[in-house]
Amino acid sequence: MTKVKIDKEKCIECGTCVNICPEGFEIKGGKSSVKNPDAECVDEAVDACPVQAISKE
Ligand code: SF4
Repeated sequence: MTKVKIDKEKCIECGTCVNICPEGFEIKGGKSSVKNPDAECVDEAVDACPVQAISKE
């Protein structure tokens, strides 16, 4: 199973990952959190995050 992590220290709460990939991410308490690490759009969100807060392994 894919592991997707969000560095909450880096996240600036821009909402880009949720806009690009609502299947994969959701906003919880202002910060983004992973909803479904296997969503197909996760890669796109990783690339789009302006502060590289999302990592995938
Ligand atoms: S795109 Fe990056 S900085 Fe923006 S909400 Fe998502 S994880 Fe946070």
